[in-house]
Amino acid sequence: MSDIEARLEELERLGLARRLRLISGPQGPTVLLEGKPVLLLCSNNYLGLADHPRVREAAAEAAMRWGVGAGASRLVSGTMTIHGRLEERLAAFKGSEACVLFGSGYLANLGVIGALAGRGDTIFSDELNHASIVDASRLSRAEVIVYRHRDVEHLEWNLRRHGRDAQARRLIVTDSVFSMDGDVAPLETLTELAQAYAARIVVDEAHAIGNLGPGGRGAVAEAGLDGEIDVVVGTLGKALGSYGAYACASAETVRYLINSARSLIYSTAPPPPAVAGALAALELLRERPHRVQRLRSNARALRGALAAQGFAVAESEMQIVPLIVGEERAAMRLCQQAIERGVFAQAIRPPTVPDGTARLRLTAMASHTPAELRGAAEVLGRIARSLGLNPAAMGPLHDEREAPAVDEDAYDERPVVAQALFDAEHGEEAEEIRVRARRPRAPSRAELDEREGREPVSEDESAPAPFDLERELAADARAA
Ligand code: PMP
Repeated sequence: MSDIEARLEELERLGLARRLRLISGPQGPTVLLEGKPVLLLCSNNYLGLADHPRVREAAAEAAMRWGVGAGASRLVSGTMTIHGRLEERLAAFKGSEACVLFGSGYLANLGVIGALAGRGDTIFSDELNHASIVDASRLSRAEVIVYRHRDVEHLEWNLRRHGRDAQARRLIVTDSVFSMDGDVAPLETLTELAQAYAARIVVDEAHAIGNLGPGGRGAVAEAGLDGEIDVVVGTLGKALGSYGAYACASAETVRYLINSARSLIYSTAPPPPAVAGALAALELLRERPHRVQRLRSNARALRGALAAQGFAVAESEMQIVPLIVGEERAAMRLCQQAIERGVFAQAIRPPTVPDGTARLRLTAMASHTPAELRGAAEVLGRIARSLGLNPAAMGPLHDEREAPAVDEDAYDERPVVAQALFDAEHGEEAEEIRVRARRPRAPSRAELDEREGREPVSEDESAPAPFDLERELAADARAA
């Protein structure tokens, strides 16, 4: 038996074998799964833009105008006007000074993290960060310190002990919304710790765009941290309905990434149709921000319906809802039986999630109807009970919006205490290290608007219009 056969057999034995399932049709609320119509409850097409007529049209038009492929790396022959246009729009959307595109979110993390940390440096990474961050950290050759999920005390404990060489760089990296759990990183405290300990901070907004923040701008905007994060990474492949990714940062940092991010330098530029599709999606999001409200209200509807079935889901508006089964085979049985009853929610097993936490990862989309979500919850409740699973024991591992239990008063003091410790450790060099490690704060979008004499967008204009399903459907039909 070859080593490959042996490994495949072992995966089968452990209940960890994976296979590709064939889907027909776009990522709409329902799809044909291996020929059978099912409700799609595991796609990251959160805002329903991947299959929106205007997004499709923009991609098709771009293919006719610019061709399908970009031909080479951005640095060789691949930079086109639409790459630049999308970068400008994304910088404006994310409230940052500059932006640079990557081929995918995976590549963006590889490029950004590898550029900001290398041999001799230290990366501090949340234990539930996405695999692309894990891989990027390993590839960077920096020392990787994994801190407990969203545990800022554990992070600080580590910041005090690791990466203390004044010449070395420190980097804190986190998902903003965690991909398999749907909970939110304590961004404010992480940013304060980064500042106090002279670390840079990278935030991956892959699952926050389209749900959190004003107009779906993400968790960084929701936390009021525009301009405070060294690099904000995001993907175009989820709420923005396309493919590709971006890094938003100061103009200086973006110039540095163009000069050092290997996954940007040595990989073909994003294809014009994908870029144009993302531009159209951003435009739709700006024009009709109530899609964000619809995603949030659908998330609430799904969570409410699951709770009515006895599942211990948290009451929140996050669109990712984990039903944690534990054992891999049990998760697969639940998944398979749900498919047979018309609900497609993929089972997620280790190593994507920690051992013993196999789960169904449900995702609501703005294009679902509340009735569809209620129906799915009923199906899942019925099957879980018939399999002898206890829905009340299938809740999240972590309280989804709250940081872990801590002494809040102690936190108020934390950055000051941290800074004092850092200063005591590094003496006269402390301030110099801090200055070297951090770029000057990037101007916020509002500051840039003011500096360049642009009319700032008022709160009223940026506030989402109330959601009106009829009007939305009519507008979509007109656009089609
Ligand atoms: N970061 C996070 C948090 C993700 O969940 C993902 C995709 N699952 C990625 C990065 C990778 O993005 P992409 O699919 O564009 O490669």
